[in-house]
Amino acid sequence: IGTPTLKPTLATRHRTRKIQVGKVTVGGDAPITVQSMTTTLTSDVEATLQQIAELTAAGCDIIRVACPSEDDAAALPEICKRSTIPVVADIHFQPRYVFAAIEAGCGAVRVNPGNIRAFDDQVKEIAKAATDHGTALRIGVNAGSLDKRLYEKFGGATPEALVESAVWEASLFEDVGFHDFAISVKHHDPVTMILAYRMLAERGDWPLHLGVTEAGPEFQGTIKSATAFGALLAEGIGDTIRVSLSAPPVEEIKVGLEILRSLGLRKRNFEIVSCPSCGRSQVDVYKLAGEVTAGLKDIKYPLRVAVMGCIVNGPGEAREADLGVASGNGKGQIFIKGKVIKTVPEDEIVETLIAEANRLGTEMGLE
Ligand code: SF4
Repeated sequence: IGTPTLKPTLATRHRTRKIQVGKVTVGGDAPITVQSMTTTLTSDVEATLQQIAELTAAGCDIIRVACPSEDDAAALPEICKRSTIPVVADIHFQPRYVFAAIEAGCGAVRVNPGNIRAFDDQVKEIAKAATDHGTALRIGVNAGSLDKRLYEKFGGATPEALVESAVWEASLFEDVGFHDFAISVKHHDPVTMILAYRMLAERGDWPLHLGVTEAGPEFQGTIKSATAFGALLAEGIGDTIRVSLSAPPVEEIKVGLEILRSLGLRKRNFEIVSCPSCGRSQVDVYKLAGEVTAGLKDIKYPLRVAVMGCIVNGPGEAREADLGVASGNGKGQIFIKGKVIKTVPEDEIVETLIAEANRLGTEMGLE
């Protein structure tokens, strides 16, 4: 009698509390999520939404947008309303934008401890506003913006310095009864970063957002991120990840997902991705996405199906999807991996997608 083959498993996941970033749960036993950041001017709503659509189609779970100006803050309500994934506003120096982002409906706001000292007295107000709106925060420590006193005390942005900064910052919010935040302690050096996250995991049950800052161009950044995230995730540390590359953000998503898949932490199943629609949309994307989801919900094999609102950008934006439709002029272009295979009348889109999904399943031997 042979020994049964057991699937090897990683270390038990480090126990963290759950927080809600819009519709996405981060921490606890929730799936580890993948994030990226837009590279458009946030104030350019249409361009930002278009990039979010592309990232959503690639599998992005949560998207962060920079918010350095009044115009960016003003664009947040529209972006939050139309994005189909939670939006996180990245705020550095301007506390008033934190409140604007919370009121805009952002799933979370990233605040920077190196700069938050300027608004210590506003911690309570921020906590209250975030609680009232159900908004999470991320305390984002990184080497570049470490408090000068800590830098001097530890002789640099050491793991100990990063962790002390994060724990102090966390205490500011916890002292006023606010607990819905994740923490990151990013560094460009994977070894420093790994040590920092390990220490942080020992200090509390905060959900942890993993990141290697300034990881570099695609090749180097991919290796550094995979090395650092791989080490930590294999130890059960990490609840959400962001790969930082000097490359288009869709590459960050591909790398992040592949890291999770490589570790058996992300299984591909049926998944619908739909664009948030924009000025180019020629169809009711929300309605069509609902009908397609209902039609394909019973599929049990890994298949990502995209529903895009226009034929100009749709197939390209969703080229990471296995199958999809881009609509316009009362028709639907059905595409596979971004390549159009046929065009059907709008009222035949759903049935065609179901037939193609079944055909792909049969081809993969997974039906
Ligand atoms: Fe992108 Fe077209 Fe959808 Fe606009 S309508 S978000 S351009 S796919």
